[in-house]
Amino acid sequence: MERKDRTSRKRTRKVLSGIPAAPGIAIGTAVLLDSEDFDILYRKVTKEGIAREIARFEDALIKTRSEILAIQDRIAREMGAEHAEIFNAHLLVLEDRMLIEEVITTVEREQLCIEYVFRKVLEKYIRVFANMNDEYLKERTADIEDVGKRILSNLLGKEKKTLKKFSENSIVVAYDLSPSDTASMHTKNVISFVTDIGGRTSHTAIIAKALEIAAVVGAESATANISHGDTLIVDGDIGKVYINPSKQAIEDYKKKLQKKHRFEKTLLKLRDLPAETLDGHAVELSANIEFPEEVPSLKAHGARGIGLYRTEYFYMNRKDLPTEEEQFLAYRKVAEEIKPFPIIIRTLDLGGDKFLSQLEIPKEMNPFLGWRAIRFCLARPDIFSMQLRAILRASVYGNIKMMFPMISGVHELRQGMAILRKTKVELRKKKVPFNEDMEVGVMIEVPSAAVTCDLLAKECNFFSIGTNDLIQYALAVDRVNEKVAYLYEPFHPGVLRFIRNIIEAAHNAGIWVGMCGEMAGEILYTLVLLGLGLDEFSTSPVNVPYVKHIIRCVSYAKAKEIAAHALSLSTTQEVESYIHSEMKKTGLDLL
Ligand code: PEP
Ligand code: MG
Repeated sequence: MERKDRTSRKRTRKVLSGIPAAPGIAIGTAVLLDSEDFDILYRKVTKEGIAREIARFEDALIKTRSEILAIQDRIAREMGAEHAEIFNAHLLVLEDRMLIEEVITTVEREQLCIEYVFRKVLEKYIRVFANMNDEYLKERTADIEDVGKRILSNLLGKEKKTLKKFSENSIVVAYDLSPSDTASMHTKNVISFVTDIGGRTSHTAIIAKALEIAAVVGAESATANISHGDTLIVDGDIGKVYINPSKQAIEDYKKKLQKKHRFEKTLLKLRDLPAETLDGHAVELSANIEFPEEVPSLKAHGARGIGLYRTEYFYMNRKDLPTEEEQFLAYRKVAEEIKPFPIIIRTLDLGGDKFLSQLEIPKEMNPFLGWRAIRFCLARPDIFSMQLRAILRASVYGNIKMMFPMISGVHELRQGMAILRKTKVELRKKKVPFNEDMEVGVMIEVPSAAVTCDLLAKECNFFSIGTNDLIQYALAVDRVNEKVAYLYEPFHPGVLRFIRNIIEAAHNAGIWVGMCGEMAGEILYTLVLLGLGLDEFSTSPVNVPYVKHIIRCVSYAKAKEIAAHALSLSTTQEVESYIHSEMKKTGLDLL
């Protein structure tokens, strides 16, 4: 008879709902990540190894205790004994026999490494305390969290940064992932990810699209429900995560996946055809990229040009800042590869949810309203003009345009333009060639820019509407907060009016207008944007064939009619159901 493994347990079967962040279906194995330091904490140990794990735990407790005592001592000296008292609560957590015993017995029973078990037990304690009715006990949650993190970091010690290996078909599950965490998952073994928090236009979601992996964010405490090693189906199209699904469900999803592949293959036949309506109205259809390696993918998906190159990823996941030469070579390479089609390089857009450790940008209460993008660049002309020099130098090697993010009005645009002019003067003096006529555009993503775009249009060559930010600022809805995701409505009449006005103002001033926010790639919005007269759609490469298909299935006259009717409706829900019915009439609902 087969010996029953003491550690085996019945895996829970459950379905979680979240926000569909990146399309696709993935079937694989859960890998739980500690998003704090991006470490994998799961490891089996042998029977003989158990004593070593317990000893490591005891060492970590002793070390943590002396750290806390040292802090307490310092605070008492510098700020007075009463301030140091709060650390008594921390010391009590360290001595909590129930917690310690539970950790030790679980390690013995399950033969798992101490850090994994400790984290699971800690999370349970945090949940219990956070849900207590007694305010005093509830407030102890923060103490438990603090001490827990300290113990964990002592437990991990030197192993901290070395555990980034993923085996095939890994589905990463984390409380949260920063855009730079996600960018570093650039490995074919990670096929999907699921997070507890986040919104559909967070940069983490955008990177998942760039990597072409399915993702669900804001998925109801995924980390509490999913265990390391669980089998998962992630449906990034509808935002569902199936934990340990039945064999039948896996088979059904495999079939669905095959069908999807077949359909995408037929769409890819449109690759070399223009994005043109039935009555011959053509628009530009380009792609957004975050990494230069995406160029082959965007070509394969039939994009003609790059409507947004998010250059900040070039600055991430490295210890130093990129030099001018490095930037020049990268921009030149992408421009040469995409030639004769255009590439729009966006100047550095740091802040919000994208940070660089090497710049030590201080933590802010409202980072999306804070020191980000053009505001940061104007304050750091050294970093800004280095990037401008690199872009200008690369401009002779391809069809390069550039644009500024987060412009809030004409004054800010003029400040950016002044630094650009100064940079050009320097290059001319040194006889460094650059394209004197390089087009310069403005991203319209701040409401004040949207309502003054008649003025902005006189001083730039094009607009690109950044709906990810424009919607969050217009509707006062944090784009990365899953709790208010239901309010994030691209079809809100307020948003539609903004877009209509921006397009009209641009056209009245004789300049073209594109859109590079996620709205440009979601097929529900294509007919309306087309009918409003948008000149360029720029989206993740994976969305390009879908948007092209819709544009090619409708006449411009019909799209204009649909847009005009959509603008006459009063609520998001009315607009949405009207568009659904229009799409159904042309069979586009099947997409
Ligand atoms: C936007 O805000 O719509 C945009 C394209 O910029 P990002 O998503 O990088 O903020
Ligand atoms: Mg933006």
